[in-house]
Amino acid sequence: MEQNGIMEKIVSLCKRRGFIFPGSQIYGGLSGTWDFGPLGVELKKNIKKSWWRALVYQRDDIVGLDTSIIMNPSVWEASGHIQGFSDLLVDCKECKKRFREDIVKQTCPECKGALTQSKQFNLMFKTFVGSIEDSTSTVYLRPETAQGIFVNFKNILTTSRKKLPFGIAQYGKAFRNEITIGNFIFRSREFEQMELEFFVQPGEAQRWHQYWIQERLLWYQRLGIKKEHLIVRQHEKKELAHYAKDCYDIEYFFPMGPSELEGIANRTDFDLRQHSKISGNDLSLLDEKTNTKFFPYVIEPSGGVDRALLAFLIDAYSEEIVRGEKRVVLRLHPSLAPVKVAILPLLRNRPDIVELAKNIKNIFPGNYYVVYDDTGSIGRLYRRQDEIGTPYCVTVDVQSLEDKKITVRDRDTMQQERIHIENLKEYLDKKLE
Ligand code: ATP
Repeated sequence: MEQNGIMEKIVSLCKRRGFIFPGSQIYGGLSGTWDFGPLGVELKKNIKKSWWRALVYQRDDIVGLDTSIIMNPSVWEASGHIQGFSDLLVDCKECKKRFREDIVKQTCPECKGALTQSKQFNLMFKTFVGSIEDSTSTVYLRPETAQGIFVNFKNILTTSRKKLPFGIAQYGKAFRNEITIGNFIFRSREFEQMELEFFVQPGEAQRWHQYWIQERLLWYQRLGIKKEHLIVRQHEKKELAHYAKDCYDIEYFFPMGPSELEGIANRTDFDLRQHSKISGNDLSLLDEKTNTKFFPYVIEPSGGVDRALLAFLIDAYSEEIVRGEKRVVLRLHPSLAPVKVAILPLLRNRPDIVELAKNIKNIFPGNYYVVYDDTGSIGRLYRRQDEIGTPYCVTVDVQSLEDKKITVRDRDTMQQERIHIENLKEYLDKKLE
């Protein structure tokens, strides 16, 4: 974490080992887009799985949802995104580059040229539905997943029979035509969000707001991010999004400084009220005690999958000297690690050892990712698995042919244990639980 150039090391590791590549790379790339390779897709999936497990499976008051990326454009009119989801930008009169007004001073940061007056720039991507490309067919790629939840509020209520307080969770792609992208995958134009809309009685919103800040903070910590690398920062009034009454960011100490991982906002009843008004469908609830209608308040923890992934990688990265050699280890939490177990033959030119190693891989029914690798010497294979964060390596040697025991090596302690092949699956299942 304190090491110099950590971001460069992570970018290089991601590319070298197949976590993340620049989008459309063979065509020179497309700025603000990234492709996730065989290990990146596993890490990303594991992050979303851990989030889903913590919110949907381990609780009784939250259900899941998966809604369309393209929605009726009236959704964005009601939500205020057509009018208000914009950044102020300035152009350089000399080199014509564009910048967000809040990140530049008086002159262009690239060529020191004079800047134009600032103007509003809407961050939503536009496209068209159907065969005619005009204003009546204009639609937007969603800039947040939340609106899919609000427009389904009544559907969920009637089908799941939940009562306040309850939540709806959704993860998926979101798109923003960001003016300034950068810091690797920290800010891109296509990314994934994990959003929870938690509906509560208006009078209880503040208490639930504080509750969710703590819950979300603990989630990052449970998955391995060091407590001292996270802070909670309350938004100043002028920073608040148009729908929010109050908002706290969970920030991680990224190499470029503390930056937002997740925002936890009190969205009040803004969205349900607006959708009721614009759609003509009443999304209010009946208070049975007073027999009056009211709109629930919404507490929204909204995090980015890609930003979480970057933080998990940075926090897990470590370098140490072992017997005079540098060892790079990703100390990822086992539930996040892309590969859980690697099966390695000690001697790759011994067919009997190779065969036994391959057979051992077949003991695992596919509940987690187990790989077989014989493409290098054992020292090299260990280094490779350490660098991608594989918690356990299983090594098959000459002795294994006789006593049917293999060696399990722990990534973090590098300690080795001899285990009978018959007990291996149970042993690792328990460790990886
Ligand atoms: P920022 O201030 O960094 O632009 P934001 O406050 O606009 O972020 P929110 O609207 O609160 O972000 O979105 C919720 C989460 O979605 C963020 O905490 C972040 O993790 C993620 N996110 C938002 N924009 C991007 C982006 N351009 N690239 C990657 N992740 C993003």
